[in-house]
Amino acid sequence: MMTNNRIRIAMQKSGRLSQESQALLKQCGVKINWNEQRLIAYAENMPLEILRVRDDDIPGLVFDGVVDLGIIGENVLEEEELARTSAGEQVSYKKLRRLDFGGCRLSIALPREMPYQSIQDLNNARIATSYPNLLKRYMQQQGVKFKNCLLTGSVEVAPSAGLATAICDLVSSGATLEANGLREVEVIYRSKSCLIQRALPLDEEKQALVDRLLTRIQGVQQANE
Ligand code: ATP
Ligand code: ZN
Repeated sequence: MMTNNRIRIAMQKSGRLSQESQALLKQCGVKINWNEQRLIAYAENMPLEILRVRDDDIPGLVFDGVVDLGIIGENVLEEEELARTSAGEQVSYKKLRRLDFGGCRLSIALPREMPYQSIQDLNNARIATSYPNLLKRYMQQQGVKFKNCLLTGSVEVAPSAGLATAICDLVSSGATLEANGLREVEVIYRSKSCLIQRALPLDEEKQALVDRLLTRIQGVQQANE
């Protein structure tokens, strides 16, 4: 592998976090030559490079120390952390800062007409989700058993397609649930994006640049408050 003295930061290539992740770096004074086709983009005015990947890959890249920093939704971060720890792996990373974008909640939703009093009503129900570990943690805390239906997309159609009784999916406005005849009954996790650093120490020069970047991010985010 090529080694260099640039900070390597992983960001979502395209999706709900990519625009704001790019904007944050720009506001911090990082000048980047974006090329839509390229996996790697370079900063012009500091030793920093951006790895543009699917968001799901970002926690692992940071946990494994393949990249120095990552910008990722806490939902994806914690799901991957739980997946690895339940597989017996040790996970370590540093959370440098919670960021002020990518806000959403992970919620349980049911067909609108289905009666619902409490989470106990879902005892032994099948629940469709892309977040099996966050759901499992919540259901264990509640002492309710459930059956998993793992879907990486189109989760909200699972009840009408007869795949599951309920779903556990990300919600921001609730419009998608509404459009699919579903209603939100429990919020199980509240998420924002965050900046994380690998646990393995960086050399002094790189760490000094990360510290400077973090100070700028703090400044930008305080100015936005
Ligand atoms: P990728 O192709 O990178 O895997 P994706 O389809 O998994 O993308 P996006 O839909 O772009 O992911 O969402 C990325 C992140 O944005 C989510 O994990 C979450 O942290 C955040 N987010 C904010 N609001 C929402 C929302 N309403 N629905 C889904 N994600 C949201
Ligand atoms: Zn994803």
